Amino acid sequence: MRFDILSIFPELFASPLQEGIIRRAIAAGQIQVNLRNIRDWAEDKHAMTDDRPFGGGEGMVMKPEPLAACLRDAQGDAPGHVILLSPRGAVYSQRAAERLAGLEKIVLVCGRYEGVDERFCQLYVDEELSIGDYILTGGELAALVVLDSVTRLLPGVLGCADSAAKDSFSRSLLKHGQYTRPREFEGLAVPEVLMSGDHAKIEEHRFLESVRLTLARRPELLAAAQFTPAEEKQLKKAGLYAQVQQARAGHGC
Ligand code: SAM
Repeated sequence: MRFDILSIFPELFASPLQEGIIRRAIAAGQIQVNLRNIRDWAEDKHAMTDDRPFGGGEGMVMKPEPLAACLRDAQGDAPGHVILLSPRGAVYSQRAAERLAGLEKIVLVCGRYEGVDERFCQLYVDEELSIGDYILTGGELAALVVLDSVTRLLPGVLGCADSAAKDSFSRSLLKHGQYTRPREFEGLAVPEVLMSGDHAKIEEHRFLESVRLTLARRPELLAAAQFTPAEEKQLKKAGLYAQVQQARAGHGC
């Protein structure tokens, strides 16, 4: 999969692309990342990529011409899906990451200043995505969030094939608590069942912990959760079934 990133600060990506799973995915050819400095497509001698807003007001706005020229170069003869990172976009989610992981090429456009000239958005952007209801100084961190979350879903990128499938959100449940050695830490012991070797019991314990956590912290997620008949039985046995149904009804299910 190919990511093209348009930014006036491409150096910001150096370290995140050189570490861990992302570095390995690049080295293995599972992803290709092309960084483009929008300034290289500025037309004037000062390489200006921003200008004052028409109508007055605070701050500067990113000019459309350097962005469009940079994007045209990025698109070349293999056009990709163009995403503008923007606080006014749809809020990014695991579902969106799964959808994007099915594409061959994504172009991530990073805004700065007060944002991007509206005509560039209308003419060139397929989708605007926000990573949450807060304001960053630029789209670079948001672009990295998208790149990272999509990359780990690509086949072969994670060491363990079903690791992504068991993450929080993948089935609308938060992940259960996890434990490693030592067996006891500052007076707190690892739950006995996890050391029993009984895999069915361990799965049931983890499933019920996931449901309890989701009920307590993010009950709205349960509206989209699907349970097998065996899981419904486990919920009933643990006295959680009514609470789950209530949460689902309260959140549009
Ligand atoms: N004036 C804009 C507004 O009120 O919506 C905010 C501009 S922000 C300072 C500069 C750039 O950071 C944006 O153009 C966008 O690319 C990026 N950005 C800021 N917050 C973001 C968020 N929550 N999600 C994605 N991108 C964001």
